[in-house]
Amino acid sequence: MSYVDEMITRTIEKNPGEPEFHQAVREVLDSLRPVIERDEEKYRRDAILERLTEPDRVISFRVPWIDDKGQVQVNRGYRVQFSSAIGPYKGGLRFHPSVNQGIVKFLGFEQIFKNALTGLPIGGGKGGADFDPKGKSDREVMAFCQSFMNELYRHIGANIDVPAGDIGVGGREVGYLYGQYKRLTGLYEGVLTGKGLTFGGSLVRKESTGYGLIYITEEMLRNHDTTMSGKTIVVSGSGNVATYATERAQQFGAKVVAMSDSNGYIYDPKGIRLDVVKKIKEVRRGRIKEYLDEIPTAQYVEGKGIWNIPCDIALPCATQNELTLEDVKTLKANGCFAICEGANMPTTQDATDFILENEILFLPGKASNAGGVTTSALEMTQNSERVYWSFEKTDSRLKEIMVNIYAQISSAAKEYGVEGNYVIGANIAAFKKVADAMHSQGI
Ligand code: GLU
Repeated sequence: MSYVDEMITRTIEKNPGEPEFHQAVREVLDSLRPVIERDEEKYRRDAILERLTEPDRVISFRVPWIDDKGQVQVNRGYRVQFSSAIGPYKGGLRFHPSVNQGIVKFLGFEQIFKNALTGLPIGGGKGGADFDPKGKSDREVMAFCQSFMNELYRHIGANIDVPAGDIGVGGREVGYLYGQYKRLTGLYEGVLTGKGLTFGGSLVRKESTGYGLIYITEEMLRNHDTTMSGKTIVVSGSGNVATYATERAQQFGAKVVAMSDSNGYIYDPKGIRLDVVKKIKEVRRGRIKEYLDEIPTAQYVEGKGIWNIPCDIALPCATQNELTLEDVKTLKANGCFAICEGANMPTTQDATDFILENEILFLPGKASNAGGVTTSALEMTQNSERVYWSFEKTDSRLKEIMVNIYAQISSAAKEYGVEGNYVIGANIAAFKKVADAMHSQGI
């Protein structure tokens, strides 16, 4: 059996009950075949794939907190420190009821490669809890964040592990987490990114995943002799990524006609009014269906189905495995020619295979959503230098890095004879950097 096949089987056997982690490992390892085959003996001897698929450590802990009724609640928190081959562990925290060890491991594993593509010195990690911030009061969220940090603080540090936000963790949560870290350690250091702008946060951080997605999408389109201008786009989600992807896409002359949340989607053929979405989501923390209160001519549809809307470009920006084989078949039948992932692994494996076989342009999340962690790394730089950069400087660094990611993944794909396959290109380009660092540092 080939080294890759052996390692896929072994990883699945060693990590039972973690389907998302299996999916991510299989996808990456499968696409590394051409690299591994060129030097199989060396990679085997070094046990590179065994080491790459086994996190440095997995931390799981109890998070007790008191709700507004005076009842003690207990959640489970995680931090997976996956790889520090190229820098301190770096990756977000996700607070969502679906969070479990397998999900955090898949996200941490993906983060290694994403972070390597940025070209900045950051390793891979991820964390979170099965806590649902939806419907919780401010005080409850603060109580939870403080309790979460009461354990997490001993595992992190500006040069050790630097968490940030992800689903369910935004500026408010990072602020509460940071305050508690400071109280516990007495250290005022860049231990978290996505901080508020008055205490070490970076301009553009909030917008950066969405903006980055649009920069790299535009770069890919430019290389295929087209642009975003005048195109119709469907964006799933209405969190940070979706909101700021929509903002930049509109500025680039595209028409975004739909957005969603976990309850349903809105369809506005005249083009989404982002000021209304921001008011609902960022100010009121409401539901997307409230869009109709201000724009009665739009439609709201309960449940999934956003991908039935005809579009030129689809940007899945909600969560993992939200885009199925059936969805991409419908998208293709309706004329969609490009799919770029804003979320982490939003496309199922069979849907990805269909996309690649049918020559739909496709950017995998580990390349196309790297803008968030890129600006996080730029926040770390600013914190170390004890300076703040301007919006323009930060945004232009972000753009430069996203364009460079496109260059890396397209040239890796070309080098290995799969031109235009950015899934393989991204995995190979990232793997080579990580494997080289691992090899150089010994065991
Ligand atoms: N959660 C984001 C991601 O999936 C950002 C991580 C970070 O900024 O550290 O890449």
